[in-house]
Amino acid sequence: MNSDIAHVKQNFEKDLKKITSIEELNLLNIAYLGRKGRVNEVLLSIKDVPKEKRKIFGESVNTLKFFIQKSIDLKRGIILQKKDREHYIDPTLPGLPYPHGSLHIVTYAIEEISQIFERLGFIRMSYREVEWEYFSFESLNMPKDHPARDDFETFFIDFPPHKEYGKMVLTPHTSSGQVREMIRSKKPPIKMINIAKTYRPNWDATHVPMFHQFEGLCIDSGINITNLKGTIEYFARSFFGNNREIRLRPFHFQFTEPSFEVDVTCDICQGTGKVKNLKCKVCKSGWLELGGAGMVHPNVLREGRIDPKKYSGWAFGFGIERVFMMKQGLNVDDIRILYSGDIRFLEQF
Ligand SMILES: [Zn+2]
Repeated sequence: MNSDIAHVKQNFEKDLKKITSIEELNLLNIAYLGRKGRVNEVLLSIKDVPKEKRKIFGESVNTLKFFIQKSIDLKRGIILQKKDREHYIDPTLPGLPYPHGSLHIVTYAIEEISQIFERLGFIRMSYREVEWEYFSFESLNMPKDHPARDDFETFFIDFPPHKEYGKMVLTPHTSSGQVREMIRSKKPPIKMINIAKTYRPNWDATHVPMFHQFEGLCIDSGINITNLKGTIEYFARSFFGNNREIRLRPFHFQFTEPSFEVDVTCDICQGTGKVKNLKCKVCKSGWLELGGAGMVHPNVLREGRIDPKKYSGWAFGFGIERVFMMKQGLNVDDIRILYSGDIRFLEQF
């Protein structure tokens, strides 16, 4: 029986040597001192010990138990001390930089654009991403089967169509907010800047299926093209820099009459189209295209319950990703990088 005690002690010492962590030590404690542990196992064999030797046997088991307990406590102290040394902090060393996040570049651009138009008294709106066909097309003077609708490849939503407004779509442009704003405002003056997500099913180096636009809409009595030009010029100088000029090029859109494409002078060549007598690689002509604009078509005003004989207005729609890249002078090979979530690209701004 005494050999059992010696055997347990020997095994314990061997096991203890292998222990390197508090977790292992706790398991060892249970294995030896637990209710079903080795020490209790030995103690239960007391019934096989002759009566006269039971007292001494009991004392020996107790000595073993005390020894194991003390050894485990000692080991615990050693392990904790070692751990402390590993975690020792030198408070005199300079701190490590803590990584911190930032807003997405498109969010920064939206914030800046909103502030510029706020200064001119425009109200910031964010019209819906899921829209009815009526607000995206018919209300903008593009009746069903009109060829102009072919220019707008559209995502259709699998949802029962509206009796009046047709099918449900993902809004292909921020212009869908024009008639909604006219109806909401009830009566001019209207000065709205609608910044929202827009969707078209394209995915290549120059297109992403989800992008952002900002749409200016200004309606009042006596509003004319001069107001439009002045407002866009104010935006261009605030956003791109004081030395920038803009120009309006006649164009055709269904929902404005007359319609224009708006260009801004290129920053690289200062609008000359040339850098050291060579053609400017960014613009080729001195001008960069901002987007479309024009005087709101009388039919669109009527859809918005506004009398075109009393009021007139203008509208423009520009892409946020596009103006952001122009501002930065970025010539990005693949626009999809904006939404790839690649921190190496995003953290540069
Ligand atoms: Zn240029």
